[in-house]
Amino acid sequence: MPLIIVSGLPTSGKSTRAKQLYDYLSTRIAESEPSKYRLHLISDDSLSISRAVYDLSPNTVRLHTRSANSSEKDARAALYGAVKRVLSDRDFVILDGLNYIKGWRYQLHCEAKAMRTPNCILRVACPVDQAREVNEERLRRTRAQTEKRDEEKKDDSEPERDPSELEHEGGNNITEPYQPGNWDNLVFRYEEPNPMTRWDSPLFALLWDDDEAQTKRTFDDLWDAMAGEGRKVIKPNQSTIQRGRDAGGDYLYVLERETQDIVKRILEQQGDDGGGEVRVALNASDKEDLIVDLPAGRKVGLPQLQRLRRAFVGLNRGGIGLESVGNMASDGMREVFVRYLNDAFERDE
Ligand code: ADP
Ligand code: MG
Repeated sequence: MPLIIVSGLPTSGKSTRAKQLYDYLSTRIAESEPSKYRLHLISDDSLSISRAVYDLSPNTVRLHTRSANSSEKDARAALYGAVKRVLSDRDFVILDGLNYIKGWRYQLHCEAKAMRTPNCILRVACPVDQAREVNEERLRRTRAQTEKRDEEKKDDSEPERDPSELEHEGGNNITEPYQPGNWDNLVFRYEEPNPMTRWDSPLFALLWDDDEAQTKRTFDDLWDAMAGEGRKVIKPNQSTIQRGRDAGGDYLYVLERETQDIVKRILEQQGDDGGGEVRVALNASDKEDLIVDLPAGRKVGLPQLQRLRRAFVGLNRGGIGLESVGNMASDGMREVFVRYLNDAFERDE
């Protein structure tokens, strides 16, 4: 049934909270008569996605990869596919992960809406220093383990292994640390969920120090919103679904079409003196128009707009990891392009 998107900084306790929620929901589901829900927990760990896919530092990016973050895109496509396979109005899906990109959460929201099922955010909040300490502890432990293994290799004798240690090493990298640069960069890139937006609401937050009672209260609220009596009826948006499907096979075409359309609207609507706002409608009728804030005091010309548009298309030609599963909503592209333009105008490019 509903999709619960966990979001938070790296090593901030997301998986711990996701597991607690999983246990809580299994009890609630077992209690509900007749039991009509199934429960799934999807995470980087459950799909064996390494922390390294989030690493953008040059020495770890292989030269032949499509772009710096293509491995992260592949990881997102895998996660998206896993969610899509099980999400329905009978399935609770907990997506445990960083989920730090606004556009990504937006895509997941659209997917849930298309399945007529609600979604919410479980924001796991934790002081940055606290989270950093967790990662550093994991780094220390991994280094110690590597050193120990190297020592053992030097010995000719057959190493005597503690069976529990072997099990731990058996491909299950639950405690794989992030490399320090990767960790810092993820904290820097984190896009805080904003409960004022449709896709980041409702938002439930758990703090590091929240005790069992507080955690239970939060989970109770979450259950009421997602499965309780007062749960909102979700109507899929016709145009979003159709657009999503046709966008799937033809990502670049849709990217060209949507960005061209926005350039056209800006040229048509801007005043003679420059400045002001241009409204850009979305394809889905229940959404508010997007606003482009034009730079004050001068008109923007076609060459400048085309230059920005081409740069944007260049950046996004690989998609955001969703084209391979065929649901890249054109409204998502419009939103991201308008944000890109506003940033550029603000920097006065
Ligand atoms: P993430 O999934 O965000 O990387 P984890 O859930 O794996 O983080 O937690 C990292 C470490 O912090 C684990 O060792 C876990 O036991 C510990 N931890 C997580 N949440 C809390 C908490 N609320 N209070 C105390 N320790 C916690
Ligand atoms: Mg985790």
